[in-house]
Amino acid sequence: MVLTRERNTLDHAIWPATARATPDGDVAVGGVRLSDIAERYGSPVHVMDELDVRQRCREFRSAFPDAEIAYAGKAFLCRAMARWIAEEGLALDVCSAGELAVARSVRFPAERILMHGNGKTPEDLRAALSYGVSRIVLDCASEITRLAALVSADRPAQRVLIRVAPGVDGHTHPAVATGGEDQKFGFSLASGVAAEAVRRVLAQPGLVLTGLHCHIGSQITSVTAYQQAARRMADLLAAVQDEHGLVLPQLDLGGGFAVPYLRDQHGLDPLTLAEPLLTTLRSACEVRRVPMPRVTLEPGRAISARAGVTLYRVLGIKHTATGRVFVTVNGGMSDNPRPSLYGARYSMRLVGRHAVPGHRSVTVAGRHCEAGDVLVEDAELPADLRPGDLLASASTGAYHHSMASNYNLVPRPPVVGVRAGESRLLIRRETETDLLLRDVG
Ligand SMILES: *Cc1c(COP(=O)(O)O)cnc(C)c1O
Repeated sequence: MVLTRERNTLDHAIWPATARATPDGDVAVGGVRLSDIAERYGSPVHVMDELDVRQRCREFRSAFPDAEIAYAGKAFLCRAMARWIAEEGLALDVCSAGELAVARSVRFPAERILMHGNGKTPEDLRAALSYGVSRIVLDCASEITRLAALVSADRPAQRVLIRVAPGVDGHTHPAVATGGEDQKFGFSLASGVAAEAVRRVLAQPGLVLTGLHCHIGSQITSVTAYQQAARRMADLLAAVQDEHGLVLPQLDLGGGFAVPYLRDQHGLDPLTLAEPLLTTLRSACEVRRVPMPRVTLEPGRAISARAGVTLYRVLGIKHTATGRVFVTVNGGMSDNPRPSLYGARYSMRLVGRHAVPGHRSVTVAGRHCEAGDVLVEDAELPADLRPGDLLASASTGAYHHSMASNYNLVPRPPVVGVRAGESRLLIRRETETDLLLRDVG
């Protein structure tokens, strides 16, 4: 059999650090063959490369040695992930009592946890106070009074940041653009609402304002957008200093650093960002005569996306009257909603065997009862693809399992961790019994 060698190479911008193509057409991640993982744990299955996660953590820490790097747990969180993040010295963003419960279950240090969210419930806030998370990021006026009311007299004051909408356009998809004025997050800078939020927080004896926060969006490739946000936030730091004589020691510039999902895409590397961003912030602070604050950054996908690979089995291949070829797999929008939510694009690769030469463009469709349940519109897959084949989708470590649903009452896939030739179950596959347990009517 002739091997299609050039298609056999793996692009390490989108495949995990330890991924290797094997001579017999398989791919090994963390020293474990993907076809063995599908055999042992079934499919669909998410695979996470522990070493890749740790490597990304180290890249951020060495690019920003003086900054606090807080992993945005919403991208993907489980106990193992929380332990890796803690061991690598990162802080953690949580957005709910549920995410906090996972962090708490592995005793993630409370002094390294921030709680976010534009709609934190009283239960979320109570959970944050009871664990003693170091900072709560306030997002609306009623939350200031709600939190202040929950901080009882015998409790130490709660440290908070104020989330600011800096009016910066990150030039990204509207579903993940969070820096402008016309979206739901934060207090507007331009209209003076953010300055008013500062006054309100300072009037609450139970709250201690330690800094400001902004997050301009996700999948942002532009260094300039972050520089612009840094300058505007420095304006507000200076305004707070002028009005209240208060030096805020922290500035959280959020996450959203782009990662490539396809071979020809570009990400925003921490090393590319660090020098221009920190130089801009330093000089903005100098000009405005405010001390340089300690910077926090909150990468989510930039830590976990590349570490993940999802495996699917081909169920059927269908040729339509219009000439399109649909390849149906045993997963779909319930394990990866991003293509149907906002047109996110992914790659698919045959693993587990060699193909005979010759590829064609096909549409990889999920199993769910919606025409929009398509995982990849235009995948280049071998012409001899057949039912039973195993497909691997790369860069699925962020916003996959964490966004998974039970649509069509399909149980959610497991997450398997790989490292140094060994695999282990991190999250087990959901079962029909799990589904029925909740259905108590
Ligand atoms: C979602 C989010 C992040 C992480 O975004 P990524 O695109 O995954 O890096 C960071 N901070 C906040 C406040 C967020 O909402």
